[in-house]
Amino acid sequence: MKFPEFDYLRVDSLSDALAAYEAADGEGIYLAGGHSVMPSLALRLQAPAVLIDIAHIEELKGVSIQDDWLRIGALTRHVEIAEHPLIRQHAPILAQAAPYVAHPAIRNRGTIGGNLALSDPASEFPAVIRALRARLEIVGPTGVRYVEADDYFIDLYTTVIEPGEILRSILVPPQQENSVYAFDELVRRRGDYAMVGLAIQGIYEQKKVNDISIVFCSVGNIPMRAVTVEKHLVGSGLDEEHISSALGLLGEDIDPADDPHLPADVRLHMARVLLGRLLRRIKNLSDMTVEVAA
Ligand SMILES: Cc1cc2nc3c(=O)[nH]c(=O)nc-3n(C[C@H](O)[C@H](O)[C@H](O)COP(=O)(O)OP(=O)(O)OC[C@H]3O[C@@H](n4cnc5c(N)ncnc54)[C@H](O)[C@@H]3O)c2cc1C
Repeated sequence: MKFPEFDYLRVDSLSDALAAYEAADGEGIYLAGGHSVMPSLALRLQAPAVLIDIAHIEELKGVSIQDDWLRIGALTRHVEIAEHPLIRQHAPILAQAAPYVAHPAIRNRGTIGGNLALSDPASEFPAVIRALRARLEIVGPTGVRYVEADDYFIDLYTTVIEPGEILRSILVPPQQENSVYAFDELVRRRGDYAMVGLAIQGIYEQKKVNDISIVFCSVGNIPMRAVTVEKHLVGSGLDEEHISSALGLLGEDIDPADDPHLPADVRLHMARVLLGRLLRRIKNLSDMTVEVAA
């Protein structure tokens, strides 16, 4: 389909972007990588009066360490998330998840800021940043505010970002010693959105779980944290008995909806399969690392 008519405005600073949004009187849309905005225009799901191109704003770029936290600018593209040395070192689960996002052409332009602003429930990065207990830096006409990832996602495609606000960066807390992580997903074809995806980040020392975040994508309206399972696993050695009882408890944390392509009980079963797989992977890799070091 053809795009609806709209004006295009390129801005080079955050203040110009905010002013342009204000001037558009509720009829503006920010454009970053464009891989969600452009299809939505072509499908006529949106018809903005003005497309405000924020892709050249320096304040939204760059990956750095600030006060021991990893700061990822909103314009960081998916391909950079996969490859950037600081991300690989300080948030390796993000780099591990990035190749699961779509295809190379989309990863070359899509940005983590656009991805998290859109917040598709099947998207990989929202689950990962929740597992990392990251913080989101949001800029608006009244200044800057910081929101914890646990509080950021509200509902389907809905976050705490208010109209006109801009996600400036993602702040990842410093990695603790003995951090463990794993990301994987089940898909029909590589590059598709996940049928079920799972991000696990935790601390496993002396063969015991000290802390763990378990977050699924594609099983609810927002990335879903399995808090009952997390509590059950803390203090355990990820032995088969604990893993099996954790899989049993998962139904207390997630309750996927039926959909025409995937019945709810099948999705829950897939979530259990993925959870068991990743917990075993974490245990085996960590135990092996300890034994090699000894
Ligand atoms: C064929 C196809 C397959 C895909 N498969 C996957 C997949 O498997 N997994 C996945 O996660 N994604 C997938 N995507 C989506 C892709 O990751 C998008 O690029 C991403 O979700 C949006 O990022 P963007 O930079 O392109 O944002 P844009 O399309 O430019 O913007 C998306 C939305 O966010 C807003 N926005 C953008 N940046 C900001 C900001 N900094 N602050 C506030 N609002 C902002 C825009 O106004 C818009 O509403 C797919 C896309 C396509 C076309």
